[in-house]
Amino acid sequence: MSKNINQITSYFDKLFPNVGTELTYKTDYELLIAVMLSAQTTDVAVNKVTDVLFTKFKTLDELANADIKEVEECIKSIGLYKTKAKNVIAIAQMLINNFASKVPIEKKDLLTLPGVGNKTANVVRAELFKIPEIAVDTHVSRISKRLGLANEKDSPDQVEAKLRKIIPVESYISFHHQAIHFGRYFCQARTPRCYECELVNICKEKNKRLTP
Ligand code: SF4
Repeated sequence: MSKNINQITSYFDKLFPNVGTELTYKTDYELLIAVMLSAQTTDVAVNKVTDVLFTKFKTLDELANADIKEVEECIKSIGLYKTKAKNVIAIAQMLINNFASKVPIEKKDLLTLPGVGNKTANVVRAELFKIPEIAVDTHVSRISKRLGLANEKDSPDQVEAKLRKIIPVESYISFHHQAIHFGRYFCQARTPRCYECELVNICKEKNKRLTP
Protein backbone atom coordinates (compact mmCIF):
# COMPACT_ATOMS: atom_id res chain seq x y z
CA MET A 1 0.00 0.00 0.00
CA SER A 2 2.72 2.49 0.90
CA LYS A 3 4.44 1.70 -2.38
CA ASN A 4 1.18 2.43 -4.18
CA ILE A 5 0.62 5.69 -2.36
CA ASN A 6 4.09 6.84 -3.36
CA GLN A 7 3.32 6.05 -6.99
CA ILE A 8 -0.03 7.82 -6.75
CA THR A 9 1.28 10.99 -5.10
CA SER A 10 4.26 11.16 -7.49
CA TYR A 11 1.90 10.93 -10.45
CA PHE A 12 -0.44 13.52 -8.97
CA ASP A 13 2.56 15.83 -8.39
CA LYS A 14 3.55 15.38 -12.02
CA LEU A 15 0.03 16.01 -13.38
CA PHE A 16 -1.01 18.74 -10.96
CA PRO A 17 2.02 20.32 -9.29
CA ASN A 18 0.20 23.44 -8.11
CA VAL A 19 -3.49 23.08 -7.52
CA GLY A 20 -5.88 24.68 -5.08
CA THR A 21 -9.55 25.41 -4.75
CA GLU A 22 -11.41 26.50 -7.87
CA LEU A 23 -13.94 28.42 -5.81
CA THR A 24 -13.47 32.17 -6.01
CA TYR A 25 -13.72 34.24 -2.84
CA LYS A 26 -12.45 37.47 -1.33
CA THR A 27 -13.13 36.97 2.37
CA ASP A 28 -13.22 34.05 4.79
CA TYR A 29 -17.02 34.11 5.07
CA GLU A 30 -17.35 34.15 1.27
CA LEU A 31 -15.31 30.95 1.11
CA LEU A 32 -17.40 29.32 3.83
CA ILE A 33 -20.65 30.20 2.03
CA ALA A 34 -19.24 29.13 -1.36
CA VAL A 35 -18.28 25.71 0.02
CA MET A 36 -21.72 25.29 1.60
CA LEU A 37 -23.33 26.21 -1.75
CA SER A 38 -21.14 23.72 -3.62
CA ALA A 39 -22.94 20.65 -2.26
CA GLN A 40 -24.14 18.62 -5.24
CA THR A 41 -23.12 21.44 -7.61
CA THR A 42 -20.00 22.26 -9.59
CA ASP A 43 -17.54 24.94 -8.50
CA VAL A 44 -18.08 26.68 -11.85
CA ALA A 45 -21.81 26.97 -11.14
CA VAL A 46 -21.13 28.20 -7.59
CA ASN A 47 -18.69 30.86 -8.80
CA LYS A 48 -21.36 32.25 -11.12
CA VAL A 49 -23.92 32.65 -8.35
CA THR A 50 -21.52 33.92 -5.67
CA ASP A 51 -20.35 36.59 -8.09
CA VAL A 52 -23.95 37.86 -8.22
CA LEU A 53 -24.67 37.25 -4.53
CA PHE A 54 -21.59 38.96 -3.10
CA THR A 55 -21.94 41.88 -5.53
CA LYS A 56 -25.51 42.47 -4.37
CA PHE A 57 -24.80 41.87 -0.66
CA LYS A 58 -21.37 43.31 -0.02
CA THR A 59 -20.92 42.65 3.71
CA LEU A 60 -21.77 40.02 6.28
CA ASP A 61 -24.30 42.43 7.81
CA GLU A 62 -26.04 42.86 4.47
CA LEU A 63 -26.25 39.09 4.05
CA ALA A 64 -27.58 38.64 7.58
CA ASN A 65 -30.35 41.14 6.88
CA ALA A 66 -31.05 40.04 3.32
CA ASP A 67 -34.52 39.25 2.04
CA ILE A 68 -34.77 35.50 1.45
CA LYS A 69 -36.44 35.98 -1.94
CA GLU A 70 -33.60 38.20 -3.13
CA VAL A 71 -30.99 35.64 -2.04
CA GLU A 72 -32.98 32.89 -3.78
CA GLU A 73 -33.03 35.00 -6.94
CA CYS A 74 -29.21 35.31 -6.85
CA ILE A 75 -28.57 31.58 -6.46
CA LYS A 76 -31.57 29.97 -8.17
CA SER A 77 -29.45 28.39 -10.93
CA ILE A 78 -27.92 25.87 -8.49
CA GLY A 79 -29.57 22.82 -6.94
CA LEU A 80 -31.30 23.00 -3.57
CA TYR A 81 -31.27 26.79 -3.84
CA LYS A 82 -34.18 27.39 -1.48
CA THR A 83 -32.55 25.53 1.40
CA LYS A 84 -29.18 27.03 0.55
CA ALA A 85 -30.62 30.56 0.51
CA LYS A 86 -31.94 30.03 4.04
CA ASN A 87 -28.51 28.69 5.05
CA VAL A 88 -26.71 31.72 3.58
CA ILE A 89 -28.72 34.12 5.74
CA ALA A 90 -28.57 31.91 8.84
CA ILE A 91 -24.80 31.44 8.51
CA ALA A 92 -24.29 35.21 8.24
CA GLN A 93 -26.47 35.77 11.32
CA MET A 94 -24.71 33.07 13.34
CA LEU A 95 -21.24 34.31 12.43
CA ILE A 96 -22.22 37.77 13.66
CA ASN A 97 -24.05 36.64 16.79
CA ASN A 98 -21.96 33.65 17.91
CA PHE A 99 -18.49 34.11 16.48
CA ALA A 100 -17.77 37.87 16.47
CA SER A 101 -18.29 38.00 12.69
CA LYS A 102 -15.39 35.60 12.10
CA VAL A 103 -15.35 32.13 10.56
CA PRO A 104 -14.57 29.82 13.50
CA ILE A 105 -11.52 27.60 13.30
CA GLU A 106 -12.77 24.71 15.46
CA LYS A 107 -14.64 21.93 13.70
CA LYS A 108 -17.22 21.66 16.49
CA ASP A 109 -18.07 25.35 15.94
CA LEU A 110 -18.20 25.07 12.16
CA LEU A 111 -20.57 22.11 12.49
CA THR A 112 -23.10 24.30 14.33
CA LEU A 113 -23.62 26.32 11.14
CA PRO A 114 -26.56 25.32 8.91
CA GLY A 115 -25.58 23.38 5.81
CA VAL A 116 -22.07 22.77 7.15
CA GLY A 117 -21.20 19.09 7.54
CA ASN A 118 -17.92 17.29 8.01
CA LYS A 119 -16.77 17.69 4.40
CA THR A 120 -17.48 21.42 4.28
CA ALA A 121 -15.82 21.96 7.67
CA ASN A 122 -12.72 20.10 6.47
CA VAL A 123 -12.51 22.15 3.27
CA VAL A 124 -12.86 25.41 5.20
CA ARG A 125 -10.28 24.47 7.85
CA ALA A 126 -7.77 23.38 5.19
CA GLU A 127 -8.34 26.36 2.91
CA LEU A 128 -8.55 29.17 5.45
CA PHE A 129 -6.42 27.92 8.30
CA LYS A 130 -4.08 25.43 6.56
CA ILE A 131 -5.07 22.73 9.04
CA PRO A 132 -4.30 19.29 7.60
CA GLU A 133 -7.69 17.88 6.68
CA ILE A 134 -8.84 15.56 3.92
CA ALA A 135 -12.29 16.43 2.64
CA VAL A 136 -13.89 13.53 0.81
CA ASP A 137 -16.20 14.60 -1.99
CA THR A 138 -17.49 12.51 -4.88
CA HIS A 139 -14.19 12.75 -6.78
CA VAL A 140 -11.93 11.92 -3.84
CA SER A 141 -14.18 8.99 -2.97
CA ARG A 142 -14.25 7.56 -6.52
CA ILE A 143 -10.50 7.97 -7.05
CA SER A 144 -9.67 6.41 -3.67
CA LYS A 145 -11.83 3.39 -4.47
CA ARG A 146 -10.48 2.92 -7.99
CA LEU A 147 -6.92 3.10 -6.71
CA GLY A 148 -7.53 0.63 -3.91
CA LEU A 149 -7.08 3.16 -1.09
CA ALA A 150 -10.62 2.44 0.10
CA ASN A 151 -13.29 -0.20 -0.42
CA GLU A 152 -16.15 0.13 -2.86
CA LYS A 153 -18.80 0.32 -0.14
CA ASP A 154 -16.95 2.71 2.19
CA SER A 155 -18.85 5.84 3.27
CA PRO A 156 -17.12 9.23 2.88
CA ASP A 157 -16.18 9.10 6.59
CA GLN A 158 -14.64 5.64 6.14
CA VAL A 159 -12.71 6.81 3.07
CA GLU A 160 -11.44 9.80 5.04
CA ALA A 161 -10.30 7.59 7.93
CA LYS A 162 -8.40 5.30 5.56
CA LEU A 163 -6.75 8.16 3.68
CA ARG A 164 -5.65 9.72 6.98
CA LYS A 165 -3.76 6.53 7.79
CA ILE A 166 -2.15 6.11 4.37
CA ILE A 167 -1.23 9.66 3.36
CA PRO A 168 1.52 11.62 5.14
CA VAL A 169 -0.13 14.36 7.18
CA GLU A 170 1.83 17.11 5.42
CA SER A 171 0.28 15.97 2.12
CA TYR A 172 -3.37 15.89 3.23
CA ILE A 173 -4.30 19.24 1.70
CA SER A 174 -2.41 18.78 -1.57
CA PHE A 175 -3.74 15.22 -1.97
CA HIS A 176 -7.29 16.51 -1.52
CA HIS A 177 -6.88 19.12 -4.27
CA GLN A 178 -4.97 16.80 -6.58
CA ALA A 179 -7.50 13.97 -6.23
CA ILE A 180 -10.31 16.41 -7.04
CA HIS A 181 -8.47 17.64 -10.13
CA PHE A 182 -7.66 14.07 -11.15
CA GLY A 183 -11.36 13.21 -10.82
CA ARG A 184 -12.55 16.29 -12.68
CA TYR A 185 -10.09 16.39 -15.54
CA PHE A 186 -8.51 12.94 -15.92
CA CYS A 187 -10.29 10.09 -14.20
CA GLN A 188 -13.87 11.20 -14.71
CA ALA A 189 -16.69 8.92 -13.56
CA ARG A 190 -17.77 7.79 -17.04
CA THR A 191 -14.90 8.77 -19.30
CA PRO A 192 -11.59 8.14 -17.49
CA ARG A 193 -8.45 8.44 -19.63
CA CYS A 194 -7.15 4.95 -18.81
CA TYR A 195 -5.39 4.79 -22.19
CA GLU A 196 -2.80 7.30 -20.98
CA CYS A 197 -2.95 6.80 -17.20
CA GLU A 198 0.23 5.82 -15.39
CA LEU A 199 -1.70 4.28 -12.51
CA VAL A 200 -3.17 1.56 -14.68
CA ASN A 201 -1.05 -1.10 -12.94
CA ILE A 202 -2.69 -0.50 -9.57
CA CYS A 203 -6.17 0.58 -10.64
CA LYS A 204 -9.19 -1.64 -10.08
CA GLU A 205 -11.08 -0.12 -13.02
CA LYS A 206 -8.24 0.19 -15.48
CA ASN A 207 -10.19 -1.39 -18.31
CA LYS A 208 -12.85 1.28 -18.36
CA ARG A 209 -11.51 3.16 -21.37
CA LEU A 210 -8.41 1.95 -23.13
CA THR A 211 -8.67 4.05 -26.30
CA PRO A 212 -9.17 7.83 -26.68
S1 SF4 B 1 -6.60 3.55 -15.04
FE1 SF4 B 1 -8.46 4.69 -15.65
S2 SF4 B 1 -9.97 4.41 -13.99
FE2 SF4 B 1 -7.90 3.85 -13.21
S3 SF4 B 1 -7.09 5.69 -12.21
FE3 SF4 B 1 -6.32 5.69 -14.33
S4 SF4 B 1 -7.85 6.87 -15.51
FE4 SF4 B 1 -8.81 6.30 -13.55
